[in-house]
Amino acid sequence: MTELPRIPLAGVIGSPIAHSKSPQLHRHWLKTYGIPGHYIPMDVAPANLETVLRALPQMGFVGVNITIPHKENVMEIADLITDSATLIGAANTLIFRKDGRIHADNTDGYGFIENLKAGAPNWNPRTGPAAILGAGGAARAVIASLLDAGVPEIFLSNRTRVRADQLHKDFGSRVRVYDWVQAGNMIDDAALLVNTTSLGMIGKGELRVPLDGLRTEAIVTDLVYAPLKTKMLETAEEIGCTTVDGLGMLLHQAVPAFERWFGRRPVVDRATRAAALR
Ligand code: NAP
Repeated sequence: MTELPRIPLAGVIGSPIAHSKSPQLHRHWLKTYGIPGHYIPMDVAPANLETVLRALPQMGFVGVNITIPHKENVMEIADLITDSATLIGAANTLIFRKDGRIHADNTDGYGFIENLKAGAPNWNPRTGPAAILGAGGAARAVIASLLDAGVPEIFLSNRTRVRADQLHKDFGSRVRVYDWVQAGNMIDDAALLVNTTSLGMIGKGELRVPLDGLRTEAIVTDLVYAPLKTKMLETAEEIGCTTVDGLGMLLHQAVPAFERWFGRRPVVDRATRAAALR
């Protein structure tokens, strides 16, 4: 009897996970490209993470996305880690290799840059400094990718200063730290402004950093994508800046993972955005 090919499975592991848009996104691509695979959201407690990860390949899983609260912990479990995941100190994508080893990668920085290029095609990283608000996990990915892209200097401000100081230590002298109360002044000379805090998201507080000093030529982007147009993007638009919403970062970071798991590089287009927003 001829053996039928195994149906590839992938998914996303977090806790909670019900809010994740990744299932809609990957299922849209599986359907678009006629790939007979499945993508499953999995709510896993931190204590069970390793047991679950070691069992998944035996069930036909080719890999998983990893989200809060596991992005850092998974680095202890992975057998192979890419340079970008090492630099960022966290992984968002795992590939289960045929030899049983777990390969960890971080595609957030890639997603951030691709979204910026798509939303602001004239953006030139070398034009001037980038101002970054926030110093959490997402900020690490954004800083690593911007330095790699050739941004000359990064101005960084975070409510908890020590976290920003740590990023200065990790990434070096091209990252200059400002107190949170100075964030409004920090953005004056920026060619790019990025909000990596969770402020502005539905259910969280508003970002109260004054944007009056922004230059009209500046590009402004927000990692928050619920709502799609945050107050920060609204204000930046009124000033005359080019703005880029955060949904595209989520879509683009998924591209390398889908390709590795299912063997087809997906395209991010209007239909992809619509699928993620459904
Ligand atoms: P995280 O590690 O928990 O960091 C949260 C950041 O927000 C920290 O800088 C924190 O400052 C700041 N913050 C939270 N509440 C604040 C407040 N009341 N006042 C001032 N600052 C506050 O989270 P993360 O993983 O970096 O994610 C940050 C945001 O990016 C989230 O909204 C997440 O959904 C979004 N994100 C989007 C994408 C995408 O694809 N678009 C990808 C990754 C993340 P402290 O250090 O002072 O606490």
